[in-house]
Amino acid sequence: MKTIIEPFRIKAVEPIRMTTVEERRELIRKADYNLFSLKSKDVLIDLLTDSGTSAMSTMQWSALMQGDESYAGSPSYYRFEAAVKDLMPFKHVIPTHQGRAAEHILTSIVARGHGEGKIVPNNTHFDTTRANFEDAGIDAQDLVIEEGLDPALEYPFKGNMDLDRLNSLLAAKADCIPMIVITITNNAGGGQPVSMANLRGLRAICDKYQKPLFIDSARFAENAYFIKLREDGYEGISVKEIVREMFSYADGMTMSAKKDAFSNMGGWLALNNDEWAEQARTRLIMTEGFPTYGGLSGRDMECIAIGLKEIVNEDYLQYRIRSIEYINERLDSLGVPVMKPAGGHAIFIDARKMLPHITPLQYPGQSLAVALYIQGGIRAVEIGSFMFGRQADGSERPAPMELLRMAMPRRVYTQAQADYIVECFEELRNNIADVSGMVITREPASLRHFTARLRPVESD
Ligand SMILES: *Cc1c(COP(=O)(O)O)cnc(C)c1O
Repeated sequence: MKTIIEPFRIKAVEPIRMTTVEERRELIRKADYNLFSLKSKDVLIDLLTDSGTSAMSTMQWSALMQGDESYAGSPSYYRFEAAVKDLMPFKHVIPTHQGRAAEHILTSIVARGHGEGKIVPNNTHFDTTRANFEDAGIDAQDLVIEEGLDPALEYPFKGNMDLDRLNSLLAAKADCIPMIVITITNNAGGGQPVSMANLRGLRAICDKYQKPLFIDSARFAENAYFIKLREDGYEGISVKEIVREMFSYADGMTMSAKKDAFSNMGGWLALNNDEWAEQARTRLIMTEGFPTYGGLSGRDMECIAIGLKEIVNEDYLQYRIRSIEYINERLDSLGVPVMKPAGGHAIFIDARKMLPHITPLQYPGQSLAVALYIQGGIRAVEIGSFMFGRQADGSERPAPMELLRMAMPRRVYTQAQADYIVECFEELRNNIADVSGMVITREPASLRHFTARLRPVESD
């Protein structure tokens, strides 16, 4: 059945404020045409990220009071640990304040103080993962399959690792490779899944070369549901069993609980290796906290424990995956150039194709983001030359793609709001030729997209 129904009803509502096109024109001008500078109260539908923006359930809110804030040995930690091990049966579970803290600790273990000359392959490194490895001197290599790099190509598992390239890399440089990482779903492209066959293949390669396999697991449940929908032999298997099988091939994991754990904050590192776990806990005490709380409050751990039970609910996952696919399909039928197939957490629009009159260095993605905000109060994020154009030598170069990403928070927006997003594009499409490019008027030395100021080209 293709109908979407939200498998929840709403008990507490958070009002969002309606604004007019004229008001939004003024608000975005005052924000120097940078959507990160808007106040969230001036945004109607906020699709900036799916990270930490989930709605908690009644069970999670009531669990807050169960939070035990003891420094050591809190029962909240043990409930959290049991919930993790129920899905991911690793020997050691180490709580951190976010996913990147888990990555940082893992990086410090594999780099051993000198990462230079080491390589860590991944399908596609997430940006903080890449930054952690590179900061330690490690070469972070992306080995996603070729199909994963073609936005318009329909392929069921565009997140798969290219096992032939991985094999060749290991055959040539095994001594330089301390571990292999696979990101599920692959964040690049809005969360394209990795197949079970690919995970099994990775395990075989890791066994052959005696290397540990770590899963960067932020969207593990969405990945498992795609396996159930698309991979032969899994249609009759429960998502929970699929999750357990996925993790059975790994030696450890890093996790951002801000994604598939329905938490507003949190993360963990889990692994089997006793020696690495001891090093990780020593590091944890230095940077996060005592091993039974890491960077978290007892109440955060309670919310994660319940979130992990709720995230593998198949009614929820059907709604989640279908509601994103629905927006993608409707935009596609309007002729809006979307990335296909839809990923698990976001919709991507090819802004270069949609705004052919704007050259890459006048930032078609950012121009579209501004136009979409003015049209409907929707906040999305540019992933293109505005984000990546500035080079280390100070020059400016177009990014490989000019994209607009709309990331969907979990359990937050309804079907009517999804239809509203589509309607905004319908309106926008009619006067797309009037959308003007952008000029940067001020930018910091790096990571400019967060704080740079812009103005429309036409006001020259
Ligand atoms: C969000 C994310 C991280 C980092 O997690 P934070 O909780 O934001 O620190 C790492 N990897 C992937 C794939 C992610 O999506």
